Amino acid sequence: MFIDSHAHLFYEDFGNELPDVLRRAADAGIEKIIVPGTTLETSKAAVELAEKHPAVFACVGVHPHESSKASDKDLAEIESLSREQRVVGIGEIGLDYHYDFSPRARQMDVFKAQIQIAIRRSLPIVVHTRESMVDALETVREMNGNWRSEGTEPKRGVFHCFTGSAKEARELFDMGFFVSYPGIVTFKNSPVLQTLKSIGYARILLETDSPYLAPEPMRGKRNEPAHIVFTAKKIAEVLNVDLDELARVTSGNAISLFNLGRLRENSGGLA
Ligand SMILES: [Zn+2]
Ligand SMILES: [Zn+2]
Repeated sequence: MFIDSHAHLFYEDFGNELPDVLRRAADAGIEKIIVPGTTLETSKAAVELAEKHPAVFACVGVHPHESSKASDKDLAEIESLSREQRVVGIGEIGLDYHYDFSPRARQMDVFKAQIQIAIRRSLPIVVHTRESMVDALETVREMNGNWRSEGTEPKRGVFHCFTGSAKEARELFDMGFFVSYPGIVTFKNSPVLQTLKSIGYARILLETDSPYLAPEPMRGKRNEPAHIVFTAKKIAEVLNVDLDELARVTSGNAISLFNLGRLRENSGGLA
């Protein structure tokens, strides 16, 4: 059984096909799907989806692309929304210096404000970075002291679509973060494979980032959770590990990071 830790199922790309998409996911062995918001509106949509579908869980947050459009009131609403039953994290939040759709200073303010929400709410964060790893790492390092530690092993969040180095990954692991890999691992000569070989699978999650980043052989098409199997097979092959073992460890990581066990009673899962 797999968990897709990052799929934007609220986008129009899915429309009224969503029941089919969820059925195909169940058939492919995907038991749970985490849907992160990118704006206040899509965060609300993620929560609605999670309320409707037992296998779906929501994260709420403002993506760095949208940070210049988000008001302080929006952020306050994100915090209230985070109290909903099926919300398991704050995300996706972070810094994107590739597109710079929002000024970097505003991206940083909104990133930090949402980390504070996560700290107040004791929820993990889902972090988006692009050409911004140095600043993102510095920010979480700076704020790490403010995080309450629960138990012996802190669970801070996940850096999704991770393209950093093995050294950066290890620093994140030491702070209590995970990293996740989407379909880009299946692309020819993918530079992330070198890092993956070095860090192994003990602290990784699987994700599709649907509807983006479809793995080979679906590259270029609309991505959906069922396609996570192509990514998982590639990672298993590269790390020379049994597919079942990879599924067991990565799903266990997602369940523990997002504390999905606490919702088990009222959420059957897809299968
Ligand atoms: Zn992202
Ligand atoms: Zn995303």
